[in-house]
Amino acid sequence: MKWSYRIARISGIDVRIHVTFLLLPAFFGFAGWRDAGWPGAVGEVSFIAALFFCVLLHEFGHAMAGRRYGIRTPDITLLPIGGVARMDQIPDKPSMELVIAVAGPAVNVAIATVLAGILMLTGGILAGPDNTLRVMLHNLLVVNCGLIIFNMIPAFPMDGGRVLRALLAMKFSHLGATRVAARTGQVLACGFAVLGFFGNPMLMLIALFVFNGAQVELQYAVQQDQYEQMLREMMARNDPRQL
Ligand SMILES: [Zn+2]
Repeated sequence: MKWSYRIARISGIDVRIHVTFLLLPAFFGFAGWRDAGWPGAVGEVSFIAALFFCVLLHEFGHAMAGRRYGIRTPDITLLPIGGVARMDQIPDKPSMELVIAVAGPAVNVAIATVLAGILMLTGGILAGPDNTLRVMLHNLLVVNCGLIIFNMIPAFPMDGGRVLRALLAMKFSHLGATRVAARTGQVLACGFAVLGFFGNPMLMLIALFVFNGAQVELQYAVQQDQYEQMLREMMARNDPRQL
C-alpha cells in the first residue's frame, strides 16, 4: 500500500501504518488538549493507541486463522478507518473463508470478555466512576463491543459480508454467492454514506471503501469464473493447450 511504513514485524508479518493514520492521534490529541490540557491529550492519544492495538489483534486473528490453512499474510496495514490484513491468496473453500472471517471479531469477543472480567474483579480497587483507568477500560470494552457488532454487519467485503458469502457459497456457486454478497454490501454502503452524511463523516469513508471493495471482489469472481469455464471447455474438447 502506498504511503505506508513498516513499524514492526511480528511473527513474520509486517505491521505497517498508513500516513493518514497519524491524523487520528493528532486530531484526538488536540481535542483532548483543548478540553483538559496535556493530561487530556495524553489520555486521548493513549485511548487511540489502545483501541488500535485491539484492531491490530483483530487483524492478527484473521492472519493466524489463515495460517492454519497455509495462507500467508505478508502485512497488516493500519488505516484511520481500521486495519487491513493482506493475504497472499483467497481461501478456496467456503468453510475456510468462514473461519478466517470470524476469527477477527472472535479476538474482540475475547478482549471484551477479559476487559469485563478485569472491571468486575477490580470493582473495589478501581472504585469510583471518576477513576481514569477504570473509565478507559470501560470505554475500551464499549468500543470492542462496537467493533464486534460493526464488523458483523453483512457489508461485503467486511467480515460479516465474508461470512454471508461463505454461507451462500456452501449452497450456491462462488460467483452467485459473491454477486449477492457484493450487492448487499453496496446497498449497505449507501446506507453508511447517508448515516455518515448526517453524523460521523468516518462512515462515509467506510462506505466508499466497502462500495469499491465489493465491486473489485465481484469483478475478480467474474474473471475467475470465466477462467474456470474456459478450462472446463478446453477439457471437454480435450484441447492440449490446457496442458
Ligand atoms: Zn476483520
